[in-house]
Order: sequence, then structure tokens, then C-alpha cells
Amino acid sequence: MPQKIAAGNWKMNGTRAALDEARATAAGAPDGVLTLICPPATLLPLMPAGLAKGGQACHPAASGAHTGDIAAPMLADAGATHCLAGHSERRQDHGETDADVAAQVSAIWSAGLTAILCIGETLAEREAGRTLDVLFSQLEGSLPEGATAANTVIAYEPVWAIGTGKVASPEQVDEVHDALRGRLIDKLAEGGEIALLYGGSVKAGNAAELFALENVNGGLVGGASLTADDFLPIARAL
Ligand code: 13P
Repeated sequence: MPQKIAAGNWKMNGTRAALDEARATAAGAPDGVLTLICPPATLLPLMPAGLAKGGQACHPAASGAHTGDIAAPMLADAGATHCLAGHSERRQDHGETDADVAAQVSAIWSAGLTAILCIGETLAEREAGRTLDVLFSQLEGSLPEGATAANTVIAYEPVWAIGTGKVASPEQVDEVHDALRGRLIDKLAEGGEIALLYGGSVKAGNAAELFALENVNGGLVGGASLTADDFLPIARAL
């Protein structure tokens, strides 16, 4: 069975005052679920024990003249065990291509971290009936050779469901996750064991029905990961 994961992506939110929420989340995290928060990099070394920690993005190089960027070994040094790659906000705001994302995933692996590779279609792509083509092409282009259940998690985040309050329906999530699982099994020796997360407006009220789907192994949660009161019921729904 793939690992059960409740992952929070704090995005560009949180100063030291937010550490109280991280502490409360750590204190209430359920057994048997990897509860993980990806805070802004400034908070990584300050995060409490009892939670896994992740970066939100990294530069493909391990060090060098790249002002304002952060390298995967730095995230590891600050206590991260995971790092997101290819979040749609990075693809949009920073023009990251599949090739850029693949280079980041390689850097994440080289630093000994697990990559949480994010893929997702836009509303226009879904309405054009291209959802699975887009997802398979992102998977092909942004996941390098060498993915295992230990070094890789895949997060399906439909762009139209992120931060919009429009959660994908269980039928839509089921269809996509089943297709992704089939694809991973076809391509990778450990494809049946790689955790598949759903992300996009996950809340306490919809988590249980999404997590009940066969190939949904957890969630990647934005807004509802910022407070323990919102995030813990989601983690517990796993
Ligand atoms: P929301 O949960 O705020 O929709 O964000 C989802 C997301 O982008 C997590 O990476």
C-alpha cells in the first residue's frame, strides 16, 4: 500500500507567529499518516518536531550564483525531507517548464529528499477533453528516470480547483487517479506503491469522500493547512 500523506503547502504565508499552528498540528497529527508541512523557507528550521517538513521549490543547481534562489541541499540542511516540484503557481509565475521541473526533481533526489511532483490541467484543457493527455505529458516531461516509492510522490492538482473553492468531484478525481495509477504501473517497477495525492480546495468537509477513493493516498492542501483546526480533521480523514 502507498503511504498515506497529509501534506500542507503554506505557499507565501506565515511568519514566526504561524509556528503555533504548526505546533498544534504536530501535537494532534494522527498515527499512520505522514503529516507534512511545506512552510516558507524562512520557517523551515523553526518548525516543530513531530511533523515532516518540505520545501516548496528549489533551484536545479546545488549551489552557485543564483540570487534569491534556494538549493535542495539547503532545504535538507534546514530539516526538510520533501520538496514540491512543478506546482502550477511556479509553472505560471516563474515560467517553469516540464524540463525545468525535471531538473528540480533530479536535484531534490540528489539531496536525498522526496519529490512531490505536481501536475494538473487548466479549465480550458479539461473542457477540450485533454485532461489525461496533459497529465501524461507532464508526467513524461517532468519525472526523470529513477522514480521510486521512496523518492517520489505525485500530486494531482487541477489548476481550476486551486484556491477557488471548486473541488473536483469524486468522479473526476477517481477517473484521473485510476489513470495515473495505471500509467505509473506501466512505466515504473514501484508504480503501484508511489503515493498519489489530490490537491485543490481540499477541506474538512470534502476530504473523507476524496480519501475513500481507491487511488487517492492523501491530499496536498493549501488554504486549509494554515491552521491546525482546519488541517487536523483533513489528516484524520485519512
Ligand atoms: P488550496 O487547497 O488552497 O486550493 O491549494 C491547493 C494547492 O495548491 C496545494 O498545493
